[in-house]
Amino acid sequence: MGVSCHFYRMEVVLLWFRADLRVQDHPALYRACQLGLPVLPVFILEDRWRSRSEAGVSRLGPFRAHFLARSLEALQGQLAQLGLPLLIRQGEAVAQLSRLLDELPVAAIYAHTEPAWEEQQQEKALKQLLDARGIALDLSDGNSLYNVEDMPYTAGQVPELFTHFRKKIEPSTLVRSPLPVPSFVLAPEQIPAGCPLPDAQVLCAEYVPERHIPEQTGGEPAALAWLQEYIWERQAVATYKDTRNGLMGTHFSSRLSEWLALGCLSPRYVYDQVRRYEHERQKNESTYWLQIELLWRDYFRLMARKHGRHLFGADGLSRVPIAWKADPLAFRQWCQGLTGYPLVDAAMRQLMQTGWMSNRARQVTGSFLTKNLQVDWRWGAQWFEYWLTDYAPSSNYGNWNYVAGVGNDGSGFRFFHPVKQGETYDPQGLFVKHFLPELEALPPAWVHRPWELPGNLQRTLGFAPGTRYPAPVVDILESAREAEVAYKKGLVDGNHKKSYSRIRKFVK
Ligand SMILES: Cc1cc2nc3c(=O)[nH]c(=O)nc-3n(C[C@H](O)[C@H](O)[C@H](O)COP(=O)(O)OP(=O)(O)OC[C@H]3O[C@@H](n4cnc5c(N)ncnc54)[C@H](O)[C@@H]3O)c2cc1C
Repeated sequence: MGVSCHFYRMEVVLLWFRADLRVQDHPALYRACQLGLPVLPVFILEDRWRSRSEAGVSRLGPFRAHFLARSLEALQGQLAQLGLPLLIRQGEAVAQLSRLLDELPVAAIYAHTEPAWEEQQQEKALKQLLDARGIALDLSDGNSLYNVEDMPYTAGQVPELFTHFRKKIEPSTLVRSPLPVPSFVLAPEQIPAGCPLPDAQVLCAEYVPERHIPEQTGGEPAALAWLQEYIWERQAVATYKDTRNGLMGTHFSSRLSEWLALGCLSPRYVYDQVRRYEHERQKNESTYWLQIELLWRDYFRLMARKHGRHLFGADGLSRVPIAWKADPLAFRQWCQGLTGYPLVDAAMRQLMQTGWMSNRARQVTGSFLTKNLQVDWRWGAQWFEYWLTDYAPSSNYGNWNYVAGVGNDGSGFRFFHPVKQGETYDPQGLFVKHFLPELEALPPAWVHRPWELPGNLQRTLGFAPGTRYPAPVVDILESAREAEVAYKKGLVDGNHKKSYSRIRKFVK
């Protein structure tokens, strides 16, 4: 989107940083600098992050608070190298930008567009405000692989199914090359008063204990160093497809999500590095698969933009009205890792201890909440929103829509059997034992089904099911069958086609 306005005074350009805390491949920064006017970068600590969700927690938890604080510190350092300050303000975003218009002669605001409902509402409100004052707003695609204007369809026409989306976009649309850090930058002479760099406690509404430091370090320099290690030094990208379903370790998947979510790294830069690796070292299914995952990220962003607030509704993108249970006890057992199903519990404790969970574990825990406990999926999404360092509205709520069966994937009642998943992806029980030390004594054959431990072994190993570790809170197949009935009723009530069952294959 170009800016076609005339500047009558030596004004400043506001560069509104959002989920794009970097200077490399930053189209908004690059374009703002091209105007030849002084650029004032601003970041707003938003009030809404401290508001409480139905899950009983605020929206920005301790791990992300640490990561964000560190990322802002890194950004401030990088901007300083360019000779630019970073102004930090606190409050409601559009109101704060509006205040700045009264304090400074602002020629234009540059920013990257963000696709989810609240961010879109901010953009609309800002546009109205700026239009009324004759000030230009330049919103560009800076945080996705593809630019909407390069696609073979408009944002409203993006195909509903991922496969259709992928098949059409891959052959027809080029991913733009990453942009360099701008070489000519003008700093503003006048800098209004702002807040100091926040620490985690300022960002998070709840008390933040020191142990909640995320495993990865926030900021673009740390992101670039990790990418270099993952792709070029370890060459883990060359085996990604085989290892990506792992649960334990640090290199089985790229671990780029935290940096991508806050924009410390652009997906285009990651894509560019993978393509270079393919050209210079090797190209295989794994290198392609990582690109597919980045495409999933784009797809969820586009779905968020297309469906607006429906992404956050109980009946989801496909409007399936399922009668979710409001069961605080079951929800608490799930949150705290006390369901009696080791893979679910270990993963939920991992989330609270590290701020991260693998994709496989997110699917299994999400399935358990919605397909076994039948608890409203939005509570789960809100819990993830609070705890995940890599929380991103479109990826989180988009994936939860899928997991809950209210997304647009058309695959019906998706159900993950936690015992089978555990035995497949954690056959020795190393992952569950790491986060559930109370299962340490159990041999692999029983580590995912401790309630079946024979009496003689219970005595030898000193492990009595249901004492130090809870007995299962539900029967896995019975509860899934019940959930499927509720799901099918939702399909009928919502006038949807019938789906096939994914539970049948587990019934002997
Ligand atoms: C219930 C649920 C909630 C989720 N919430 C989030 C979230 O809030 N933020 C988030 O970034 N991802 C989310 N995901 C997607 C996925 O689990 C994480 O992106 C992935 O586990 C991060 O690890 P990684 O960086 O090693 O990923 P890799 O497997 O190495 O993938 C590379 C990158 O591709 C993107 N990606 C991979 N899988 C997906 C996917 N299914 N959807 C969207 N993007 C994807 C991520 O940016 C990721 O960093 C969620 C998945 C589920 C099932």
